[in-house]
Amino acid sequence: MDGIIIIGAGECGTRAAFALREAKYSGAITLIGAEPHLPYERPPLSKPTGDLAEMKLICTSDALASAGIDYLQGSSASKLDSETGAVILNDGRALTYEKLLFATGARPRKLTCPGAELALDFRTYADAEMIFSRMGKGLRVVIIGGGLIGMELASVLRGKDITVDVIESAPKPLGRAVPMRFAEKLFARHIAEGVGFHLGRGVAAINSFSVTLTDGTMVPADLVVSVIGVLPETTLAEAAGLMTGNGIQTDIYLRTNMPNIFAAGDCAAVAQPGGGYIRYETWRNARVQAETAARNMAGSAEAFTTLSWFWSDQYDLNLQVAGLPQPTHQCVLRSLPAGELEFYLDNGRLVAAAALGSGNSLAKDIKLAERLIAAGIHPDPAALADPRANLKMFLKSVRAA
Ligand SMILES: Cc1cc2nc3c(=O)[nH]c(=O)nc-3n(C[C@H](O)[C@H](O)[C@H](O)COP(=O)(O)OP(=O)(O)OC[C@H]3O[C@@H](n4cnc5c(N)ncnc54)[C@H](O)[C@@H]3O)c2cc1C
Repeated sequence: MDGIIIIGAGECGTRAAFALREAKYSGAITLIGAEPHLPYERPPLSKPTGDLAEMKLICTSDALASAGIDYLQGSSASKLDSETGAVILNDGRALTYEKLLFATGARPRKLTCPGAELALDFRTYADAEMIFSRMGKGLRVVIIGGGLIGMELASVLRGKDITVDVIESAPKPLGRAVPMRFAEKLFARHIAEGVGFHLGRGVAAINSFSVTLTDGTMVPADLVVSVIGVLPETTLAEAAGLMTGNGIQTDIYLRTNMPNIFAAGDCAAVAQPGGGYIRYETWRNARVQAETAARNMAGSAEAFTTLSWFWSDQYDLNLQVAGLPQPTHQCVLRSLPAGELEFYLDNGRLVAAAALGSGNSLAKDIKLAERLIAAGIHPDPAALADPRANLKMFLKSVRAA
């Protein structure tokens, strides 16, 4: 048995490797990464500041070496034998482990229409390189999928004066994760920026010049990018007999049903206290689950808890959502010069908050809101809506109480 093996060197796997050392784990750590690069962050892929794809590394090779992390760059795990505690690599090597972490992330959901192979995915640096290397004056790009990543890409491309059409099967873009008011505002901004929308329709076929929609409309396209969501990467886990559903199922300690095997990040579906499993697809979740799983692999028994949080940048606007706003929550709006904040109350208790503003202007407010949510406050909605009432005052009154 040779220490800890981590399969997947994305945000989660890489963070877990370093967190193991921070938790004073002194055994061998092997990080297996299928991609041919040093570990890098995905969010900057859809928010490049220049003309080319940008790679923001999570760590350098020196940092990996000095932490004693054996990084197998460009290697993939092709089989897991949980009986003997061995991972088989694509080159045939067998590595044995004492404990194992699945951090295999997610893979793009694929279109199934004729010509689907002509659409580019947008998940990896290689995908981003392929997309941005094709950019040029007069190019017509069709983005299939009006979710966060599709709309971020649309805003980047409009900034380069490229013609952009978005095809979305729902009646509006951004409907899944973004609170309604802010989804509407972002939608309006995209229209004002000249993005063409084809809503409530699917894709019937793709060829080298156009995308045909299910109602027969033909949308001209020199380049088609498909961002219709992701599926958790569970292939290896499933073949090894781990329990999977919408992700590799774990308990609240991020342990799978097999001894000494953990899962975290985009691939993990974590048991909920009220029953069922929840899987997140966010950067912060990947990091926090990585840290919890690492401490638990190093000997702790820490339940995973975190407030969900994500951000998105579109044009000069920054969206941040903390917690999980629901239509059943009471929504309190606070208007500020730099943008708007929404607070969500569940039976009077603050459970979520969202902000849409220019640049990073509301980041501090969301940070404060996160602390108020954690403190479990039951604020007066009128005071919450009043921009003159400093959010710090709510914290002070919690402390005083
Ligand atoms: C373009 C883009 C923009 C995003 N923007 C945001 C954002 O603004 N805000 C936000 O909160 N989140 C954002 N996200 C989501 C966020 O990046 C992910 O939630 C996060 O990267 C998940 O990390 P992970 O390590 O769990 O999975 P991944 O990042 O998917 O990493 C998993 C790694 O495991 C490797 N792997 C899989 N199987 C094997 C195997 N058998 N052997 C070896 N290696 C394997 C994969 O190649 C991959 O490198 C964005 C994602 C994308 C794609």
